[in-house]
Amino acid sequence: MNKRPTESESLFKKSPTQTIENSLERGDISIFDFPIILILKEVLEFLFTGTGTSTGVPMVGCSCEVCQSTDPLDKRLRSSGIIRSEKTSIVIDTGPDFRQQMLNHRITDIDAVVYTHQHKDHTAGLDDVRPFNYLRDKVMPLYTSEAVETHLRKEYYYIFERTDYPGLPRLHFKRIEPLTPFQIGDIDLLPLPLMHGPLPVLGFKVDSFAYLTDTNQLLPESIPHLQNLELLVLDALRITPHYSHFHLAKALEVIEELKPQRTYLTHISHLLGKHAEVSLTLPENVFLAYDGLRLQW
Ligand SMILES: [Zn+2]
Ligand SMILES: [Zn+2]
Ligand SMILES: [Zn+2]
Repeated sequence: MNKRPTESESLFKKSPTQTIENSLERGDISIFDFPIILILKEVLEFLFTGTGTSTGVPMVGCSCEVCQSTDPLDKRLRSSGIIRSEKTSIVIDTGPDFRQQMLNHRITDIDAVVYTHQHKDHTAGLDDVRPFNYLRDKVMPLYTSEAVETHLRKEYYYIFERTDYPGLPRLHFKRIEPLTPFQIGDIDLLPLPLMHGPLPVLGFKVDSFAYLTDTNQLLPESIPHLQNLELLVLDALRITPHYSHFHLAKALEVIEELKPQRTYLTHISHLLGKHAEVSLTLPENVFLAYDGLRLQW
């Protein structure tokens, strides 16, 4: 069973400066051991707002033991997350559970949305950015590949073709390209090209953290950026192979090659098994993610 962080482990209740001060009080390090840049380095956080596959877990109408489980760790909204610093919040993907995810975590503002790809389980909640338009009086930037922008313009034609209806979302596209870094607020992101079956998609790297969902193949040009990370989030759909997602054994092979310090598996289907049972079978530095989990680096 994975450890769950307590609220006190949450972001911004503990800064690296405080950690160093605590160590100094204990007398086991000297201030001269730390260049000033380390003291000023900001803590970043990733909050998993959803860790489920496209159906979510439980799946509607299913009576399997995972879908019937009473363990809150077996309740998975569609995969999504928030990367944040003290100043900036970036949502990755707006799936069909976007509204509920924002409510669950009392998110009152976001600076931008970045998209991994155009599948419905990653885009269907786009309309629900409207409260941020209303309350914060701002146009929401959407950072997308050309393919995702084309898809969103088609699927949400009413947003882009009509400008005379006052309740429409206010959105602004920003183009991103694989392997071309970009910045949102004080957070630097590197889009990494991946394949998701036949579909090119993007993962995102921020410092020593990478989020790679909906993939069954890491492209060779991404691999050098993924070696020896501190934190890796990786797709692991289920036990048996799938044409567009890593299954568990393949995900573990990839982890073995990339050697991250810790890996959290996401985009989980009811066919992977119960959180508590699968967790016991994983290598010591590999964990199943769950909705509400926070990582910091
Ligand atoms: Zn998906
Ligand atoms: Zn089920
Ligand atoms: Zn997908």
